[in-house]
Amino acid sequence: MKILVIEDEELVRESILELLEAEGFHTIDAASGDVGVELAQRHKPDLIICDVMMPNLDGYGVLNILRQNSATATIPFIFLTAKADKVDFRQGMNLGADDYLTKPYEAVELLEAIATQLRKYTTLSQHYAIQNIAVETKLDTTSDPLALEPSLRHALEREEFQIYYQPQVNLQSGQIVGSEALLRWRHSEKGFISPTEFIPIAEATGLIIPIGEWVLHTACTQTKDWQNRLHTGSEPLRLAVNLSAYQFSNSDLNNTIIKILTETNFSPKSLELELTESLIIQDTNSAIQIMHELKKLGIQLSIDDFGMGYSSLSYLQQLPFDTLKIDRSFVQNVTNNNGNAGITKAIIQMARSLNLNVIAEGVETEAELAFLCQENCDVMQGYLFSRPLPAKEFEQLLIEKKSLVIPSY
Ligand code: C2E
Ligand code: MG
Ligand code: MG
Repeated sequence: MKILVIEDEELVRESILELLEAEGFHTIDAASGDVGVELAQRHKPDLIICDVMMPNLDGYGVLNILRQNSATATIPFIFLTAKADKVDFRQGMNLGADDYLTKPYEAVELLEAIATQLRKYTTLSQHYAIQNIAVETKLDTTSDPLALEPSLRHALEREEFQIYYQPQVNLQSGQIVGSEALLRWRHSEKGFISPTEFIPIAEATGLIIPIGEWVLHTACTQTKDWQNRLHTGSEPLRLAVNLSAYQFSNSDLNNTIIKILTETNFSPKSLELELTESLIIQDTNSAIQIMHELKKLGIQLSIDDFGMGYSSLSYLQQLPFDTLKIDRSFVQNVTNNNGNAGITKAIIQMARSLNLNVIAEGVETEAELAFLCQENCDVMQGYLFSRPLPAKEFEQLLIEKKSLVIPSY
């Protein structure tokens, strides 16, 4: 259970978080309405607790935005207010809040309100899930993600998954140094389904465990074959694989990885696992422990989508990362948006000071490339050089030794 707390007063926010964490909830928090909306859309929490009175975007504003977006419209929403004013109360409930607490409240009041909302929501979603399985084939996947679940269960045995490989290019040499494995699902009737749609379902159902094993096994086997037959760079071709939060919380992860590396005879030194910030935030202590165990095997770790989450410098420093991947949203338009350029520059400098390699994701234009080269970014990945490709086509790039022309400035 993941709860988002949106509260601008630090002391109040901290005390709520402490209480929730003591009760075993995962928490995310925001100090302003804008950040709260963004986190709600990105993380789809199971419940939101939100202060009414906040500067700029207040609680009503937050609720309003979330209720208009189908992905966040049904998340239970509890308002917190300092005023026991009937007008405020009615306004909040009219806007669609599910409950309302007046500060100061007792811890038990808050926990009870949460329990009530979660019970209501679970009952509803169980009902919803059962109905959906029954009418699965009639439903459109975009309007109803849960409808994908039964077919996702069979996708592995039906061999509907495929891995695409997106080249990663060194910005000094212009050579391909490795690839990121990206999962693709070709559904027999619905056609191509994006990983952003089915990975969350695979996570929610636990199917990500066998699927993730398949990805790692297949990509290691393929990359080993390329290393043996083709690649003539100074170092063996590298492979980056994404790990999701659920895989990371599985205690068997290390053994699974060791088993796959042994079976495929793949060197851990050529493997990079991509983790996201939210994954580590969820359970920092155990995450750090697993990370150290992976490092001991010789595997490299990278932080994916950097900039989208909550990482602070001090926090990054405690974690054994080798590489930082700057999220595509910061790379895009660095050349015509001053804010982005500044942030991207700062991220690269910060990574440097922490001795991390820097990979820029989603590089689409020559101008972005020139900027990244100027800022001494190490590696690029993006449509400008190549989209993710099926194994055969990626192999063709290796055979041709396709390289990137590095701009001179
Ligand atoms: P990600 O790891 O951040 O992967 C990068 C995404 O950016 C990929 O989307 C890639 O196709 C896309 N991309 C690359 N270059 C460009 C560009 O120049 N412009 C634009 N607009 N997009 C670009 P994709 O393949 O749809 O994957 C989405 C996400 O799904 C991935 O984000 C990753 O988080 C997840 N994912 C994919 N495969 C796996 C997997 O095997 N396991 C797990 N756990 N997650 C996966
Ligand atoms: Mg990735
Ligand atoms: Mg990414």
